[in-house]
Amino acid sequence: MRLCCEVRVAYLQLMSESASKTVRATLAVGRKTNAKSKLVNDKVSEIFLTVTTAKDITGRKYLVTGNLQQIFAKFWSQGKATIQFKDPAHQLCISKADPGELRKLLCILRLNPIEKKDTFEALPILDDVAQHVDPPKTRMTVNKQKNYPLRNGFPISLETLNVHNCSLTRIDARMLDLRNLKFLDLARNRIKVLPLSMKNLTGLASLNLASNEIVEFPHSLCGVPLSKSLSSIDLSDNRMEKLPYYFGRLSNLVVLKLDRNKLRGLPQTFCQLSGLRQFSAVNNQLPCLPSNSQRLKLDSLDLSGNPFVDEKSVRTIRNSLGVQTMKEICARAVKKSGLAYSPEVLPRELCAYLDLMKVCSVCEASCAESLLHFVAPFNLGQISRTVVLSGGKRSVPVEGYVCSLECFGRGQANLLL
Ligand SMILES: [Zn+2]
Repeated sequence: MRLCCEVRVAYLQLMSESASKTVRATLAVGRKTNAKSKLVNDKVSEIFLTVTTAKDITGRKYLVTGNLQQIFAKFWSQGKATIQFKDPAHQLCISKADPGELRKLLCILRLNPIEKKDTFEALPILDDVAQHVDPPKTRMTVNKQKNYPLRNGFPISLETLNVHNCSLTRIDARMLDLRNLKFLDLARNRIKVLPLSMKNLTGLASLNLASNEIVEFPHSLCGVPLSKSLSSIDLSDNRMEKLPYYFGRLSNLVVLKLDRNKLRGLPQTFCQLSGLRQFSAVNNQLPCLPSNSQRLKLDSLDLSGNPFVDEKSVRTIRNSLGVQTMKEICARAVKKSGLAYSPEVLPRELCAYLDLMKVCSVCEASCAESLLHFVAPFNLGQISRTVVLSGGKRSVPVEGYVCSLECFGRGQANLLL
């Protein structure tokens, strides 16, 4: 058998601490077939362990039979173990190994060739063991429930993981330990909730969760580190009714698919997705878009199958422009200055007040109660090269806010209102 892992060799005979660097290696265990090997019942009885690295492709051989000083296997489930030999007095520190494979290897090393003759004879002749270093496994696809690695888990080196049709109801916590993961595709399962520990996947670039049963995208996943790494999200065919307010913080997004959900609106921060190029939200429940979506610059936009209201002219829904309360004046100042706030420094009620402030469609300042709420038609051709809408339309209603009489005047002058 062979085991891909990382190995550091410590030289125990030296008084001072001395060890090689940790390197990628393949450990192979087998029997040896030369004339000098001991014979028991006419069978070769010695087990050897070979350590092959990129620098040493012929491999360093260690006699195992009668030459083992000690095995430290307490952390085998974390892919770690230490093997000490008597001669030479070397200590192999193994890490980043597949736990299941490591356990098998340690069992073989502890094998008594005379007592467990059958298992011993099943070992390959050492000279036949391929002497090359296997590259770490970076890609894995599981398409059937019976192939799911329930006991062994996933290789720590994975960069791409596809798991489909396995009826997963939640994301396996072992997947969230794969720090090298860049592409995670869990489409066609039954996942309901996204764990907050997904933030551990600091290099995740693409997340496909299409055809699951997700109701909510947690707002805590919209911040760092995923906001810096995620460039593609597919949440089509789920059960989401809204996106979190801060969804716009995922500023690295290029592709976003939200088809066939139950979305009733997009958050005001959506316009902050400045890198977004492909967006589709086919067959949702969108009655209109936020007016600041006019800042998006897309290559393709598909919003067919949404019940957009047929808006041909500007309509004022509520005009409460007037004298601002002291609370609103302070809140506007906090937002304007970009001051950070949290429940640790402000009452929760005030945090919620600040979070729910609207953005003026004309000057982009925040406003809360003293505002004008309007709906106006908008030609999507202005923000996307390709537009797909039901009935061949190009225009949808946008919903927006104006923070002052001055902005109202400017909006009218710019034909926005
Ligand atoms: Zn304004």
